[in-house]
Amino acid sequence: MAKDLYTLQDPTKQYPLPKFKHQPQRVPGLAAKMTPKPDHGETSYRGSARLPNRKALVTGGDSGIGRAAAIAFAREGADVAINYLPSEESDAKEVIALIEAEGRKAFAFPGDISNEKFARKLVKEAHRKLGGLDVLACVAGKQHAVDKIADVTTKQLEETYRVNVFALFWICQEALALMPPGGSIITTASIQATHPSPSLLDYAPTKAAILAFTRALARQVAEDGIRVNCVAPGPVWTPLQTSGGQPDKKIPAFGSETPMKRPGQPVEMAPLYVLLASQESSYVTGEVYGATGGLEVG
Ligand code: NAD
Ligand code: MG
Repeated sequence: MAKDLYTLQDPTKQYPLPKFKHQPQRVPGLAAKMTPKPDHGETSYRGSARLPNRKALVTGGDSGIGRAAAIAFAREGADVAINYLPSEESDAKEVIALIEAEGRKAFAFPGDISNEKFARKLVKEAHRKLGGLDVLACVAGKQHAVDKIADVTTKQLEETYRVNVFALFWICQEALALMPPGGSIITTASIQATHPSPSLLDYAPTKAAILAFTRALARQVAEDGIRVNCVAPGPVWTPLQTSGGQPDKKIPAFGSETPMKRPGQPVEMAPLYVLLASQESSYVTGEVYGATGGLEVG
């Protein structure tokens, strides 16, 4: 495992390569149960005061990419509220402790964002507890691979759209009523938005929707001084994948299809969220930033 993100090194060897062990988990999976352990930046991400006193809400902040963003935001000087599902409390507790270890305020909001009432309340409560809302990173997502279209249930179809698309809509509606000029919204799409896998017939179109939503919303709210951008990861080593995001048979070789021949680690997404959250990217809006090990989001 890489000691830090700053020492010059060969990125193809920076993190674990396939093959990985089979390690199925129930949805939502826990980062704590994964082998090898994902790198969310716990010891590898170093802050440099790029988000001084920002107030940030991160959905899906307990594990994976959201956890990496939450840790990085705190190291850059932000107070951070995280949302996650109640069954992910053990992962979330570790993130809260890491944020507090930076001397920043941390707030935990367990709850299901596919419930409109909860999703809307989450934003208002986070704004109240944080004492403002400058950064919204929408990272929560649902992905469940099914080989054949005939086997995708209406229940799954609806849940995937509610979590990935409807909740994003509700959360952004509430956030835009509260964010000051300078505020930044970051959505999370995927390589799947433009290069969909045959087993992700419900999920991939939600990621295409997120891309279009990001671009449209950015153009709508630019005049209010709010920026909206998107991070589009390739395969990243997170519990989403080991809890049914991929068919279990694909876990051992996960990430080997990329030109770098390995999956990304959550921390490798964090610098994109930090850049897009910070004032450094003041002229960047409606953009998609990929991090795919070379697969190209286009
Ligand atoms: P993850 O499982 O660590 O994070 C997803 C999080 O979504 C969970 O921790 C959970 O807290 C949250 N979530 C799911 N359903 C929810 C609900 N109903 N209410 C509240 N929270 C809910 O996995 P991850 O891979 O870090 O996923 C983060 C985002 O990255 C997702 O949007 C995913 O689509 C996207 N993404 C992941 C990959 C990858 O390969 N891991 C690739 C491209 C995009
Ligand atoms: Mg989780």
